Amino acid sequence: MTHTIALLPGDGIGPEITAPTVELLNKLGDFAFEQHLFGGASIDAHGTALTGEVTDACKRSDAVLLAAVGGPKWDTTDPAKPRPEQGLLGLRKALGLYANLRPVRPLPALYDASPLKREVIEGTDLLVMRELTGGLYFGRRGRDGDSAYDTCVYSVAEIERIARAGFEAARRKVTSVDKANVLESSRLWREVVTDLHAREFAHVELQHVLVDNAAMQLISNPADFDVIVTENMFGDILSDEAAMLTGSIGLLPSASLGGDGPGLFEPVHGSAPDIAGQGIANPLAMFLSAALLLRHALGMENEAAAVELAVDRALAEGLRTRDLGGGATTDEAAQAVLNHL
Ligand code: NAD
Repeated sequence: MTHTIALLPGDGIGPEITAPTVELLNKLGDFAFEQHLFGGASIDAHGTALTGEVTDACKRSDAVLLAAVGGPKWDTTDPAKPRPEQGLLGLRKALGLYANLRPVRPLPALYDASPLKREVIEGTDLLVMRELTGGLYFGRRGRDGDSAYDTCVYSVAEIERIARAGFEAARRKVTSVDKANVLESSRLWREVVTDLHAREFAHVELQHVLVDNAAMQLISNPADFDVIVTENMFGDILSDEAAMLTGSIGLLPSASLGGDGPGLFEPVHGSAPDIAGQGIANPLAMFLSAALLLRHALGMENEAAAVELAVDRALAEGLRTRDLGGGATTDEAAQAVLNHL
């Protein structure tokens, strides 16, 4: 069966890390890639970061693979001018992506690149599952005289669908993070998660942790976590904190999943304009994003694991791009991984 993948290389190093990723995927299955302009590249061609045709093509695909957008060429403070990030927000909205997944799995070969001690991060393999379309970032906000307010609103249905995604992804435990000692929306969150757990997921361990405590434990005992499920703002902060455990931005993939339509898979890093065009970008976060695509969009678990293993082995053998303190080029890094596939 041919899987259709909407490919959005975007800007900066995007095209450089997309090309080897296509090569990698072609070794693992039968894919039809439909490549589109997106972000700054689309602004140059069409005056907007995301056209209606590209939105439609993404909706029709089995999955969307995005590299990165943005760069100094399109930086502007003029609200009337188009900006590359508008493409990201538009696409997330059009695809109804409500869950953002960031796996954090420091590799033994890179333990010493982490700012934390080896003993602390050893064995860490966690997933932050952040609610993406509700909560404080989407509630009513405004100014009233000399004060300002933001509101945090969650419905039972919104909490239940992200909690379900968390339980389904868990191997042993779900840690639901909230602030139920203070916030009413957190108390509802806790009720709904507890209820869903009792009804459908009693075989998975469930733990409720207050967000301040979760922030501490992520640093002191990260290996204790499996899946962390949390609301939008807490997830925004905790996923960046968790990302630092690995020590390199060039290695972090992410996935955003929606209702019935395709998911969006992309590296956590940006378009790295400072090194674009030099052939030295690290393609591994993009490779690992492709692994998430195989796993979460296409159910190709064996192929996903094969990519992750090939990346681990290449790094264990000493592969280091510049961001990891080495001198390997994008091509050399890609080849090192392909050799282990
Ligand atoms: P960045 O992630 O692009 O770069 C930060 C630093 O990390 C840079 O020094 C860069 O060279 C390095 N880096 C990042 N990815 C790398 C890789 N794969 N290999 C080697 N080194 C890598 O973040 P930034 O500099 O803050 O942003 C640059 C542009 O990217 C901006 O226009 C920003 O808006 C955009 N951006 C886009 C996304 C996205 O598309 N999702 C995310 C973040 C930033």
